[in-house]
Amino acid sequence: MSKTIIVSNRLPLKLSLDGDKITATPSVGGLATGMKSVHTDGDSLWIGWSGLTDDTLTTTQKEKVAEKIRQENCAAVALTQQEVDDFYLGFSNKTLWPLFHYFLEYAKFEKDQWETYQRVNERFAKVILEHTGEDDIIWVHDYQLLLVPQLVKEQRPKSTIGFFLHIPFPSFEIFRTFPWREEVLQGMLGADLLGFHTYDYERHFLSSVKRILRREVSFNKISYDNREIKVDSFPMGIDYDKFYSSAKQHMDKSLEERSELQQRLDSHKEISGDGSKLILSIDRMDYTKGIPNRIRAFEYFLEKYPEYIEKVRLIMLAVPSRSEVSTYKKLKQETDRLVGRINGKFSTVSWTPIWYYYRSMPFDNLIDLYTSADIALITPVRDGMNLVAKEYVATRVNGDGVLILSEMAGASKEMNEALLINPNNFEEFAATIKKAIEMPLEEQQSRIKILQKRLSRYNVERWANEFMKSLKETQQTKDIFV
Ligand code: UDP
Repeated sequence: MSKTIIVSNRLPLKLSLDGDKITATPSVGGLATGMKSVHTDGDSLWIGWSGLTDDTLTTTQKEKVAEKIRQENCAAVALTQQEVDDFYLGFSNKTLWPLFHYFLEYAKFEKDQWETYQRVNERFAKVILEHTGEDDIIWVHDYQLLLVPQLVKEQRPKSTIGFFLHIPFPSFEIFRTFPWREEVLQGMLGADLLGFHTYDYERHFLSSVKRILRREVSFNKISYDNREIKVDSFPMGIDYDKFYSSAKQHMDKSLEERSELQQRLDSHKEISGDGSKLILSIDRMDYTKGIPNRIRAFEYFLEKYPEYIEKVRLIMLAVPSRSEVSTYKKLKQETDRLVGRINGKFSTVSWTPIWYYYRSMPFDNLIDLYTSADIALITPVRDGMNLVAKEYVATRVNGDGVLILSEMAGASKEMNEALLINPNNFEEFAATIKKAIEMPLEEQQSRIKILQKRLSRYNVERWANEFMKSLKETQQTKDIFV
């Protein structure tokens, strides 16, 4: 019987070490949840890095970590601290991440880091080969592992390999600037099925294959090395029921059961009175999320429509991310400075325009934020998908609320009923905040209802199952031809 192998940079576990005692907590992120239906007992295996660097562990610790990982149906790829620095923080996050998000000016092209990236991808391929047979189905995830499909295919030509990219694939004019463009495309083309969040990313990829590798592309099929490769879009969803039911439970809480954060959120409505509104944004502190731009646009809004001073508040949750990388450090400094300046400029005795949290929050507090927000302001300058936008909609159990969403987020392609904006157009930005504040309840409800229906149907489980179904079809097509 064939096994399903899931491969991602990180295993879906958080391991903590206390001497020789190891504890593993399962991850709750989107990918781990979506894979639940695929990563079932017995016939599946998840391969990835454990999050612990090998050169910092004792032999006993290494053995215990490996044992723990095995118990969870996983296998680890060992990385040293230097490899994490060059492969993950380096090439993945200082080259591929900015390049694929159109931040060409941030992309560093360092040969040493490229070599480490190749070496680490080879190590992933080796671990995959050790754990798989000819008939297994292998699903590789994301931009850290672009070379893995080819490395596996070369050794196991009959294997069935799927690859999903969780970030945008940039247009040809951006991608052509990349020094290792051929190698990366060839790496990806080791897969039998390539999945992207949106049709646009799929088209950009096909256009790079045509123009850089000069391969024949017909509709969404590529002929390559006597194989037919399928390319398709699979927009990733969320665990809709989890968000909806948590929000529902939250609404039923008595006053005494409400969290401290919730009480603070409630206080805004009490102080600001009729017509008061809470606007929410949640993102990782990443330059792709357009955080400084959003703060400036909010300032412009308050200047242009001063009648909303003391009525409207922006709650901004920025989750620390890649804080060792200098562009991220600078972004944090810029954000702190801007929030300080705007709060200093507009605050009154009873009101500050921005409540800013730089931390991650436990799930219950996220639900407090989502359910209290009259408006979600999700304005990345570039984003592969953006799950926060979908989570906000799922928590609107009363059907009210307005989502303002950037056209530059992959999620906008499925969320036409949101108020879609170009975040660089401040006139439009400010006018849309005003429109959201003034939107009649019936209109809010009719928009949210349609969005909810779509999100509940295309949830994350469906996303994983559709990809797997399509991957298995490529396997059957191959069987017909042999
Ligand atoms: N999130 C979280 N803790 C927080 C804030 C957010 O786990 O304190 C989650 C949020 O619920 C969402 C994810 O982080 O599922 C962010 O995903 P998204 O696609 O919006 O952006 P990404 O960070 O993947 O670029």
